[in-house]
Amino acid sequence: MLEPYSLEQLVSEFSSLPGIGKKTARRLAYHLLQKPKQDMERFALRLQEVSEKVHPCVKCRLYTESEYCSICLEREGAKTICVVEKPSDVFPFERSGIYHGLYFVLGGVLSPLDGIGPEQLHLDELVKRVQEENIEELILALGSSPEAESTMLLIDRLVSNLSVKCTRLARGIPMGSDLEFVDEITMLRAFEGRNLL
Ligand SMILES: [Zn+2]
Repeated sequence: MLEPYSLEQLVSEFSSLPGIGKKTARRLAYHLLQKPKQDMERFALRLQEVSEKVHPCVKCRLYTESEYCSICLEREGAKTICVVEKPSDVFPFERSGIYHGLYFVLGGVLSPLDGIGPEQLHLDELVKRVQEENIEELILALGSSPEAESTMLLIDRLVSNLSVKCTRLARGIPMGSDLEFVDEITMLRAFEGRNLL
């Protein structure tokens, strides 16, 4: 084998990341190896720290090192929850500065073929929050795939007997695009033009 086993293993770890092919994975691994040893050790330490300290916020499931994330603490009492698929989806909202409410990370969208049913999506926690925090609006920012559509309809149905309105972002977010990469202008428009489900 051309590569030592441990290096081969590192390349394979990198190539398991989204958007990283085998070539890029090898380039990253070799790049790390050229750095001073202490840089590599720091990199390893950061990974270890994140895996030990970071976990979902007990309320919204965004990543935090404490029990509650900083958004839940700072915006306690807000009456709007923006429901996203994954933690990184909140960045376009925060970057654009247009939204000052709370969040809830669903952890996916309904996808029976991938084994993701309602039980996998923390829906009970969401409904409980709507009730306990007297939430007035749920902004369902789940994209426009068929899976997202059926997930939004399900949430709308689950809260239909509560006094909360469900809205969705206006069209304009490209179909199937990752919400986290949406630019600020598109986000501002989609947010301001949001409408009732
Ligand atoms: Zn939180």
